[in-house]
Parts: sequence; structure tokens; C-alpha cells
Amino acid sequence: MTTQIGKSIDIPLEKGAFGISRLVFDDYLYQKCKALGVECLTHAKVHDCIFENSYFNVSSSKGRYQAHYAVGAFGKKSNLDRVFNRSIKPDKSSYLGVKYHVRSDFAKDAVALHNFRGGYCGVNKIEDDLYNICYLTKGKNLKQSGSIESMEKDILFKNPHIRELFKSSDFIFDKPLIINQINFNKKQLIENHLIMCGDTAGLITPLCGNGMAMAIHSGKLLAEIIIQKKALPALRQEVQEVYKLQWNRWFSNRLMWGRKLQLLFGNQSLSNATLVLAKSVPMLAQKFISKTHGKSFS
Ligand SMILES: Cc1cc2nc3c(=O)[nH]c(=O)nc-3n(C[C@H](O)[C@H](O)[C@H](O)COP(=O)(O)OP(=O)(O)OC[C@H]3O[C@@H](n4cnc5c(N)ncnc54)[C@H](O)[C@@H]3O)c2cc1C
Repeated sequence: MTTQIGKSIDIPLEKGAFGISRLVFDDYLYQKCKALGVECLTHAKVHDCIFENSYFNVSSSKGRYQAHYAVGAFGKKSNLDRVFNRSIKPDKSSYLGVKYHVRSDFAKDAVALHNFRGGYCGVNKIEDDLYNICYLTKGKNLKQSGSIESMEKDILFKNPHIRELFKSSDFIFDKPLIINQINFNKKQLIENHLIMCGDTAGLITPLCGNGMAMAIHSGKLLAEIIIQKKALPALRQEVQEVYKLQWNRWFSNRLMWGRKLQLLFGNQSLSNATLVLAKSVPMLAQKFISKTHGKSFS
């Protein structure tokens, strides 16, 4: 972890892990589903999902579907947020996410978290010989600088570790992948009987590096409950209640800690103080990390 002016600390990560991009992971899931005989509709957009008379009526660019159970797994931002009247209006707490895949000689077994004014940048190894560089910044940084490139030069590169990383890396994308207006506010877990999982249920701050694992885990929990209740429409209420309990048990504290820790990042004095504290009491840094990571599952 480094501060805005490049002071650094190394914190051992106790749990083993490996990095993988969504691109590769989604393809793995897709191939697995196909092999099991699941019908997957690619390049399809869901326009609406209305619950009526114990059925979900889904309209999509590939036709209409009816089912007793439907799961909302449409990520952190979607046209469906508007359909379900979920607040997606940008506010002061909104962030912009910017992602690159690069070739670099960065350590294979480390995760970096570099602070800069109004945000932070993470680096970790993914598949092949690639690394993921992803940063989260307050929207006002972009407004001030006018473009991504100027913002990186004017603000991010004040941290010498980020400057060096960008200078020495070989960028794979022509341009970065950008998601704007991300916020980490609490979300409804169930909207008119549609049960949410992954980022649609709750978005953990990326400094925890755990969003993909949480998305997989929440999907697994929900699938197991629906299977256990044999997907019977009569047991809908029970499915919802059990899922709510389980989701809160596994994730709500982690999300809360992630939100709290994010307040320390991007703020010069707070991130400096955190680094000094973490250096003098290493156990404290470990404790914070464990609060966001949760327990293993299989
Ligand atoms: C800046 C940043 C950095 C991050 N870094 C990490 C990290 O290092 N490690 C990590 O584990 N996680 C990280 N995350 C979090 C991680 O990306 C997410 O938690 C994870 O991808 C959530 O998976 P998901 O399937 O719930 O949502 P998503 O990955 O968003 O998938 C949702 C899918 O639904 C599709 N969709 C949306 N609406 C519709 C519709 N109407 N019809 C059809 N399809 C639709 C979308 O196109 C998308 O493919 C980061 C997030 C951010 C913002």
C-alpha cells in the first residue's frame, strides 16, 4: 500500500488467492453451463421483469419468458435499475472506475493499492502474463482535469509508484474500460419478489478485492436455497427469508467495513495516518483485511 506521495508499507496477505479476469471467468461459466445443457442467450438485453400471478414475465431482445423464479444478477448499473426504481442518480459519493490490462514486471504474488487525491489504484496479476490496473476516482477529478489522460498525469502520477507503473507497462487495450457513477450505498435485496445476487444485491468497495468472490458466493447461496425448496412457488416467501438471513450473515458486515475503509483512501492525511498506524501496529492492518474478506466457502 502506498500513500499519495509514495510512502509504502508491505502487509502480508494470509489467505492464498489467484487473479482472473471477468472475461476468462465468464467464458468458463458459459462453457460449463453449455456442457450441462443450459440454454444461454448471448447478446440479449432484458427490458423488464414483471411479477404477476406467481410468475415472472421477462421481456428481452431475444423474446419473452415465463418462470416461477427469477434472479436479478445485472451488476452494479443497468437499465433494470430504472425499471425497478432503484436510485442510480449520481451524487457526491459517486465514483468513476477505470480499468486497463497490461504487461508489466510487477510482482506476481502481490496486490498493490496506491492512493492518490480523491481515489486509489489497484494492481494484481490475472491470467497469462497479464496484470489488471484498475482505479476508482471521485468524479470531480475528471471534471477538473477534462480528460482521463490529463487526470492521470495531473493527479494519479503525483504518486511516484503509479507514475512508474504506467511508464513501465505495456497497455493491451486501445483505451481504458470506464464505468461512471458507481456508488456503494445499500441496495434492496429483493424487489417485488425478484431476488438479487452479486453486485445487484450489494457492491463491496474494490479496495477489498473481493467483489467477484462475493458474487459467486451469493449466487451459490441462492441456488442452493432454491434447489432445497424445489423451486416451488408456494415456498417463495421462505426462499426469500432464508436468503435474506444468509446474505446478511455472510456479507453485510464486510460491505460495512469496506465502506468505512474506503473513507481512509484518497484522503491525504487519513491515508498517511493509516499507513503510520499500520506500520506501528501490523496486527491492526491484518485485522482490517480479515474484516472485509469473510470466510472460505466451497
Ligand atoms: C473499479 C473496480 C475495481 C474492481 N476490482 C475488483 C478486483 O480486483 N477483484 C474483484 O474480485 N472484484 C473487483 N471489482 C468488483 C467486481 O467487478 C464485481 O464485484 C463483480 O464483477 C460482480 O459480478 P456480477 O456478476 O454481480 O456483476 P457484473 O460483473 O457487473 O455482471 C453483470 C452482467 O449483467 C449484464 N446486464 C446488465 N443489465 C442487463 C440486462 N438488462 N440484460 C442482460 N444483461 C444485463 C451486464 O452486461 C454484465 O455482463 C471491482 C469493481 C470496480 C468498480
